[in-house]
Amino acid sequence: MNGEPAPSDTVPERSDHGSPDAARAPAPEHGRQHGWEHGRERDGELSPHASPEDLLRLLVGDHPERLVHVHEVPARRARLADWPEWVDPTLLGALLASGIEAPWSHQIEVAEAAHAGRHVVVSTGTASGKSLGYHLPILTDLASGASAPNGRGATALYLSPTKALAADQLSRIDRLALPAVRPATYDGDTPTDERRWIRDHANLVLTNPDLLHHSLLPGHERWSSFLRALRYVVVDECHVYKGVFGAHLAAVLRRLRRVAARYHSEPTFVFASATVADPEEHASRLLGMPVHPVTVDGSPRASMTFALWEPPLLVDETGQPKRVSTITETGELLAACVREKVQTVAFARSRAGVEVVARIARERVPVTDESRVAAYRGGYLPEERRELEKALRSKELLGLAATNALELGVDVSGLDAVLLAGWPGTLSSLWQQAGRAGRSGERSLAVLVAADDPLDTYVVHHPEAIFGRGIEATVVDPDNPHVLAPHLAAAAAELPVTEADVAVFGPQTRALLDALVARGILKKRPRGWFWGREDRPADHLSLRGAGEPVRIIETRTGRVVGTVDDAAAHSQVHTGAVHLHQGQTWVVTELDLDDHAAFAVRGDPGWTTQAQSVSDFQIMHEVEHEEWGPLRCSFGHVTVRNQVTSFLRRLPGGEVLGEHPLDLPARSLATKAVWWTMPVEELTGAGVEEDGIPGAAHAAEHAAIGMLPLFATADRWDIGGVSTALHPDTGLPTILIYDGHPGGAGFAERGYRRVRTWLAATREAIASCECAAGCPSCIQSPKCGNGNEPLDKRGAVALLDLTLRHAGSAQQRPREGRS
Ligand SMILES: [Zn+2]
Ligand SMILES: [Zn+2]
Repeated sequence: MNGEPAPSDTVPERSDHGSPDAARAPAPEHGRQHGWEHGRERDGELSPHASPEDLLRLLVGDHPERLVHVHEVPARRARLADWPEWVDPTLLGALLASGIEAPWSHQIEVAEAAHAGRHVVVSTGTASGKSLGYHLPILTDLASGASAPNGRGATALYLSPTKALAADQLSRIDRLALPAVRPATYDGDTPTDERRWIRDHANLVLTNPDLLHHSLLPGHERWSSFLRALRYVVVDECHVYKGVFGAHLAAVLRRLRRVAARYHSEPTFVFASATVADPEEHASRLLGMPVHPVTVDGSPRASMTFALWEPPLLVDETGQPKRVSTITETGELLAACVREKVQTVAFARSRAGVEVVARIARERVPVTDESRVAAYRGGYLPEERRELEKALRSKELLGLAATNALELGVDVSGLDAVLLAGWPGTLSSLWQQAGRAGRSGERSLAVLVAADDPLDTYVVHHPEAIFGRGIEATVVDPDNPHVLAPHLAAAAAELPVTEADVAVFGPQTRALLDALVARGILKKRPRGWFWGREDRPADHLSLRGAGEPVRIIETRTGRVVGTVDDAAAHSQVHTGAVHLHQGQTWVVTELDLDDHAAFAVRGDPGWTTQAQSVSDFQIMHEVEHEEWGPLRCSFGHVTVRNQVTSFLRRLPGGEVLGEHPLDLPARSLATKAVWWTMPVEELTGAGVEEDGIPGAAHAAEHAAIGMLPLFATADRWDIGGVSTALHPDTGLPTILIYDGHPGGAGFAERGYRRVRTWLAATREAIASCECAAGCPSCIQSPKCGNGNEPLDKRGAVALLDLTLRHAGSAQQRPREGRS
């Protein structure tokens, strides 16, 4: 069997933790909200010399085939609305004084819903000023609450995934200078005496879910006066809470609802999301109650030319098909823009990639312009960021290569062009990054340069995936028992869990509570389930990440240079591994499993390593299935076993220097998966010979893993797969795609729900790659535990054609499972 271990630490650096979009609004064409978004005018003495068409013509040069598609994003006019009558007059005055004359329609839709006590989710574009919508009812209520006898008739809680975002919100509210509003950020860095003041006096607390989990909920008695008045809870950037992190947030929100109810509060929840396919379902799953969606964007937008670009396919020294690297191609495009004095930012997914893009661009511009190209990798001091903003504004800086870190903390907008080196992970990140280009009344250019994987190949050949109706959804599985059980223990320590709470925490609750009692963690008494131990359960549970990570330790100094997810350690930092960590190369001298430590030395030995593994799986319980004629597609619980058995050393050209055995224990993962089976005679009838089945199934599996993130905002590395020509449980050739996290994370389920579209896109990604026998842009996988052997490109297309033919003719009617 062929196995893909998942997940891994080599996740491309990227973050959806954007700062609130309003803060970086490009000056709107017809809008009038400059003041609120601190819209600054540019000292635009240099205007772009070229229109988007001219610039594209220049970039394409003698290789028109690289430009796969050009899409015109039309301008959109603002839809304005009237201020609601209930808005506090002081607040209204402050908003008018800040330069907002009239709000946009979606802002008022959110404001009215929240004001009426309806849970609401707003999912509109970058720079659409989502926060104004919820600030209207919240700040109005806080103002009127200030006249209560204790000065605290109403309070609100604002949750953001990062501290930077909370700080940003705070400064925006501070600028309004409303006497009745006492906002404060509350996080791990807040000094003890300030904490007390905040608990007793602040009426708007800006914090993060981790703080809620570790401090506010376990210590709720100290927050009683705040909780008693709690009227609103804002969950900002809620698309970030996906997969396992999303399941944690869902549990924390349920605990919050229960603790608030103890103080007779039923707060209204407001969710803000990037544009995704189904924000209503996502927010409702996070909250565990229906949430009203607001998705029609009333903000204006300037027009943009969006180009889809594919680097040319060449043949490398070993005769393998190989594309010009996305990074090289992007560096060259950046240089070409800078030579034309077109101010451009190029986004790359990793820090190392950013350095290379900037280096290539510098090498290819005139000497006088070398200093006008820079790299930005995040982690900079505030002064350095302000310097950078200044250099961009004055056009001293013409070309900037950056990671998504730029989304946090630097105000960069109104550029002439944006280059994206590879799919940035999600559609919302794509628009967030592209949105950095565009000035008032002027057209701008964005170019997506495809990276070497099936998803990128697919989107550049299928522009409708980007410009058509949204297909990308954020997924979360609040019922994951591995996540929910420890939260139930934490909840019981806050307040005994009662029969009534079973409805709050969902159908799994009772079984999980019984299991916690059996393990001696909870005690069952007539009045409910109680925490039965001395310590605090929240201390044992982190919201971010599972298992104890393996530390990478520099052998010479004993310094910890980073960590790797426990699940990825065997394949990434085994003894002898060459490991790339934040752009630096390390060689692991020893992996100590007992101590969760990998000892490593700096240096590049001139080869790379690739772990080889064997995987198999057992079907534990089929929850649902569909009959597709002689084929069958299922969703359910599985146990995946993976053992790293050896590693290959390879030269940069791919040549294998040797294989070295490893003595590592097998690991098993209980998770959820989607799988489908195909009888051998059907496959041979479709043109896949019996001895070609392993290669066809393996290739289809790789591409299917690569394509799933287009439908669920997962990382390719959150998902694993196993394919086999004969599975003992099914007795048939079987392809399985699974969630790489214990208990599942919702990705496989999303794949099952959209299986036809997903597999059709997978088929297209393979077929539209012009290589002859398979390459990284279609069926090869960078994390294959089998060294990408065997793979059969033609067979994979035939296998998927067979699958889609039967899936298409079968009725879409899910059935009860069998176990
Ligand atoms: Zn290919
Ligand atoms: Zn593989």
